[in-house]
Amino acid sequence: MALVVQKYGGTSVGSVERIQAVAQRVMKTVKAGNSVVVVVSAMGKTTDGLVKLANAIATRPSRREMDMLLSTGEQVTIALLSMALQEHGQPAISLTGAQVGIVTEAEHSRARILEIKTERIERHLNNGEVVVVAGFQGISSPTDLEITTLGRGGSDTSAVALAASLRANRCEIYTDVPGILTADPRLVPDAQLMDEITCDEMLELASLGAKVLHPRAVEIARNYGVLLVVLSSWTDDPGTKVVSPMPQPRSLEGLEIAHAVDAVEFDSDQAKVALLRVPDRPGVAARLFGEIARQSLDIDLIIQSIHETNTNDIAFTVTKDVLNRAEAVASAIAPALRTSPSSLEEAEVMVDRQIAKVSVAGAGMIGRPGIAAQMFTTLAEAGVNIQMISTSEVKVSCVVDLDDCDRAISALCQVFQIDSSPVSREVSSSPAPTPQVPVRGVALDLNQARLAIRHVPDRPGLSAKLFGLLAKHNISVDMIIQSQRCRIINGIPTRDIAFTLAQADAEEAKMVLQEAAPNLECGEILVDSEIAKVSIVGAGMIGHPGVAAQMFEALAKHQINIQMITTSEIKISCVVAKEHGVTALKVIHEAFGLAGSQKVQVPA
Ligand code: ADP
Ligand code: ASP
Ligand code: MG
Repeated sequence: MALVVQKYGGTSVGSVERIQAVAQRVMKTVKAGNSVVVVVSAMGKTTDGLVKLANAIATRPSRREMDMLLSTGEQVTIALLSMALQEHGQPAISLTGAQVGIVTEAEHSRARILEIKTERIERHLNNGEVVVVAGFQGISSPTDLEITTLGRGGSDTSAVALAASLRANRCEIYTDVPGILTADPRLVPDAQLMDEITCDEMLELASLGAKVLHPRAVEIARNYGVLLVVLSSWTDDPGTKVVSPMPQPRSLEGLEIAHAVDAVEFDSDQAKVALLRVPDRPGVAARLFGEIARQSLDIDLIIQSIHETNTNDIAFTVTKDVLNRAEAVASAIAPALRTSPSSLEEAEVMVDRQIAKVSVAGAGMIGRPGIAAQMFTTLAEAGVNIQMISTSEVKVSCVVDLDDCDRAISALCQVFQIDSSPVSREVSSSPAPTPQVPVRGVALDLNQARLAIRHVPDRPGLSAKLFGLLAKHNISVDMIIQSQRCRIINGIPTRDIAFTLAQADAEEAKMVLQEAAPNLECGEILVDSEIAKVSIVGAGMIGHPGVAAQMFEALAKHQINIQMITTSEIKISCVVAKEHGVTALKVIHEAFGLAGSQKVQVPA
């Protein structure tokens, strides 16, 4: 007999009729000879409603009381669904997170699952009952019985964690769209359904704004090899499979917290080209990377910093063998890039052959800002200065001086307890896979803000201090970008650092940094919430020149200015003005030929 975990989201259980429909599907699954554990969300927009109530009572409600409040939503659904099942003669029992024994950290509103005690569920399953579990919640420890929640959208994570702990044959996430699409169908009506997607791609998409799956759910599926499918609760269509590689054997203890970093990687075959003082107007990145693409030069990292006096710095890395050609392209374009037609000052090209990229990788880094901070601290303590930083949800990469590479690697391996020899990611030694399409999906995040710190002294350890401080307040940052140019302030070389973070964390981050700024000799701190982050994701962009150019050209064609750029191996993200976010998403989706003729019906 197979064991299936099914999770039904808010819209799928939004009314009495919907709960009846879910009961029918559950019974059908039982009749087909399966044991079934069902995880449910709160009905419809219940959780949003509870948040509103809290905000009407208190300006800053405590996180503990918020968990007490929000966890009630799911409790309503489990009871109703159990009743619906019992009404049809199907034995069923509802259980809260505490009753199941979903033990989490004592971190209210964003707790990670430490362990799930499976005995009670197994007992009920053996009795032939369907077990209906409240998603999104747990308890901090079997003695305290403090109710915790996993963070908004966390029922997906409850379901996949249960599937992993019970060693279920399958985890099915039922939602209000037919599966995972190339874009959010509410914003891009001609988005297309994917039959399957890799965990790595889904992790990026989910963390870049595609809320169809909670990123931590994808992380658990990947770590434990859970067979995961996303499908519509309205139809019998097969949905989208999220494909995991064969997992390493792994203990279920410390489920979401063990082993944040699984690998330290390096690439010493890289060189950097920076174009300094390019004008801040639409089309500049498109022009540069368009020309690079026409020469079939494959680029790795791209970083575009915030602008200072209407100019930007764009830096990118290539393999050493094509550095001369990349430099020639940049130098040929530079004279045409003047801030204004009358300006004599043109962009300046700077190259550096003596660099290496070192990275720490692991799905367990999601939402754990401490990991990046620890990497920066480790490098600082080893006396390694960081030239460029590129972050993704599952990897943080730093460009450092080539002479520092070995020292950086051994320090990182020691700190993150990586015994196996670090993996070299040099292109020559690991040929890139060549899947058919370079871009699988696009995502938009309108809930981000940008924070810029001016004039940060350019010495090892400053990033470590800044991001360590934010990590201490549990603030996750993304898209960290340092300007390429140094400015001398009071005799000290300084750089600007900018990063994006959740809007909800922006004010706290500003306060924390403002307090520390004088001690760290940093300048002004600026927050901009009027931004949107658009991203493209696809494992096929590795070894596929021209993808970045295509994205930038699509934006340029619509006069959308790019404020920041960062890349990882399988994603490119651009920050644009918030008002251009949705258009940017649509034109990029179109540019990569992702649109189809079928329109997806989304329930209201
Ligand atoms: P549930 O309540 O079932 O968990 P969510 O609202 O959390 O549902 O997630 C489903 C929603 O995710 C869809 O209605 C859709 O608007 C949104 N979404 C965003 N990006 C995507 C995508 N790439 N594919 C499918 N849905 C997406
Ligand atoms: N009800 C919770 C929320 O709205 C959890 C979930 O639905 O996944 O965020
Ligand atoms: Mg959801």
